[in-house]
This record gives sequence, C-alpha cells and structure tokens, in this order.
Amino acid sequence: MPDITVNATSIAPAGARTVRCPTCGGASVYSPANTFRPFCSERCKNLDLGAWASEAYRVEVKPEASPDEGAAPEK
Ligand SMILES: [Zn+2]
Repeated sequence: MPDITVNATSIAPAGARTVRCPTCGGASVYSPANTFRPFCSERCKNLDLGAWASEAYRVEVKPEASPDEGAAPEK
C-alpha cells in the first residue's frame, strides 16, 4: 500500500533517520516517534510477527537431529 510510505514520512521530524521497513520495504522512521520501528506501521509489525511465529512453528514441528548426538564431550 503506497499510503504506508506517506504515513511514515508524515511523522518524521526534520532530519530524522529512515530505514527500510522489513515487511513492505517502504520508508520507516527510525526514531522514538515511531513506536513500530524498524517497521513503518503497526500493520507491518504485526504482519512480521505473524510470519515469524508461523516460521518458528514450522521449525519446531520439523524433526531434526537427535539432541544427544555429540552433546557430551566429557564426563
Ligand atoms: Zn511497512
């Protein structure tokens, strides 16, 4: 949504540092004024957290190497 970029720049103080929003790639104000930093908006923050949660879920469900394999180097 293009309005996200407009929203981010509108809350930016003069000379504020902007970063790229990890979710939408738009401009995000990196300052205490932006409580969602490094995201540009609450929507992008929630989207990213949701993606992260589902990703973590997938990793946890997936069976990996057994934990006791090479876990004890010394007695
Ligand atoms: Zn964004």
